[in-house]
Amino acid sequence: MKSELDKIRADATTALNAAADLAALEHASIKFLSRKGLVAGLFKLLGQADASERPALGQALNELKTDLEALEAARKLALTPKSKGPSLDWTLPGRTSWIGGYHPLTIVMREITDIFRSMGFRVADGPEIELVKYNFDMLNTPAWHPSRDESDTIYLANGFVVRTETSPVQVRTMEAQDPPVRIISPGRVYRRDRPDATHSPMFHQCEGLYVDKGVTMAELKGTLLAFYRELFGQQTKLRFRPHFFPFTEPSAEVDVTCPFCKGDGCRICKSTGWLEMGGCGMVDPNVLAGVGYDTELYTGFAFGLGIDRIAMLRFGINNIRLLFDSDVRFLRQFIGITPR
Ligand SMILES: [Zn+2]
Repeated sequence: MKSELDKIRADATTALNAAADLAALEHASIKFLSRKGLVAGLFKLLGQADASERPALGQALNELKTDLEALEAARKLALTPKSKGPSLDWTLPGRTSWIGGYHPLTIVMREITDIFRSMGFRVADGPEIELVKYNFDMLNTPAWHPSRDESDTIYLANGFVVRTETSPVQVRTMEAQDPPVRIISPGRVYRRDRPDATHSPMFHQCEGLYVDKGVTMAELKGTLLAFYRELFGQQTKLRFRPHFFPFTEPSAEVDVTCPFCKGDGCRICKSTGWLEMGGCGMVDPNVLAGVGYDTELYTGFAFGLGIDRIAMLRFGINNIRLLFDSDVRFLRQFIGITPR
């Protein structure tokens, strides 16, 4: 019986492999694998075999059946015609589902707020349509000051303006709470500016305010130095240039050493080694008195910085309008960049 089994294995393998189409395969299957086929016949002979040989023969028979059925299935798959219709082009690039990214301004804004939060500042928010009272009067802006001019400021009806800075948030915060006050107010501001590479009628500022007993200008400088070192690197130096702002007295413009040339002079800093970053100063006592603070007891400092400018420096963006055009070709370059 063993030799019979080997012969059927050889014949069946040859017949199944030789089948040129599905009909020939069917024919071979019936001959060997059907219920009355040659393999089934072998199972019937098993009962007549010597009892001692039966287990080994049974196992060999089962293996034969399994092998031939697997071969039949493989041949059937190979002989089955491929489906009609458009075939798959495996060389085409895959379809990408784009994941979102952070806008460069969002990246920088989060970095700025993270640094100030680590120094104990809280983020405060306020309206973009603001009362003239908060935007100018309570910030000690004199009637003659050019920032009040209609050529600079967008006035609305009924004593409202579109806010020209985020400082009104500071007044609103001080009105609502007693010292100590330690806030930053990042947000959009608006000016009548003709758009060009460095100007936009809408841009982003972050103002900061700290009012408490005995706050000094040294603390102002220390706070800004710590902030800009965190932002631009620990080698950064800071300098104050005397200036005038209605809201503060004394006031200063803030310069930092250029992070690109480390102060040696380059194209970005126009060979000066310094970059102008914004204004700052000690809060004018008139402002503190205006919100009901005791000016004998409390002093404070305030500062402002341009978020767009920092984003442009950070990412080497040479035109502010790119930040607001929503051009996907530009924005896609920031996918994967997260706040530090
Ligand atoms: Zn430089």
